[in-house]
Amino acid sequence: MDLKQHVAIVDGWPKPGIKFKDITPLMNDGEAYRYATDKIVEYAREREIDLIVGPEARGFIIGCPVAYSLGVGFAPVRKEGKLPRETVKVEYGLEYGTDILTIHKDAIKPGQRVLITDDLLATGGTIEATIKLVEELGGVVAGIAFLIELTYLDGKTKLDGYDVLTLMQY
Ligand code: 5GP
Repeated sequence: MDLKQHVAIVDGWPKPGIKFKDITPLMNDGEAYRYATDKIVEYAREREIDLIVGPEARGFIIGCPVAYSLGVGFAPVRKEGKLPRETVKVEYGLEYGTDILTIHKDAIKPGQRVLITDDLLATGGTIEATIKLVEELGGVVAGIAFLIELTYLDGKTKLDGYDVLTLMQY
């Protein structure tokens, strides 16, 4: 299946110069969404994944159906102030300034093999921060899966040494 047919490219959104890759048409198409999910499930099975971890909000959309299909759990990574119990946190750099991501302290058992999911790899900052959270809690990052990689931003160099799956490249 040609998944790229189901990605809308929105020129100049959210600001001039950006060509935003909108994955909502892919999610909206039952066959395409299932096809992409099944590819990631297959990848996860080969890596004997115990738990899926995904950053808000699109990491949930990719990771939750994979967790359901494998019969493993899902742990959300969220912006600071959104999770109600004790968390660990990491600060990471954005184009302008910094942001903070958090995860519940009891979300990962030491030694669990974790698959991190998100919709898109751009500079890699979001996933680098997510890796730090997983490893701080003793999880083993056994794979990282994205629908889309923007190869010209070279985010993969931040993920050197990790096993990465991307279903589409631009
Ligand atoms: P990074 O931290 O790798 O620079 O940015 C990746 C994050 O920004 C992902 O969580 C992703 O959801 C979001 N993002 C950045 N650009 C795009 C885009 O063109 N399309 C989509 N769907 N998400 C994007």
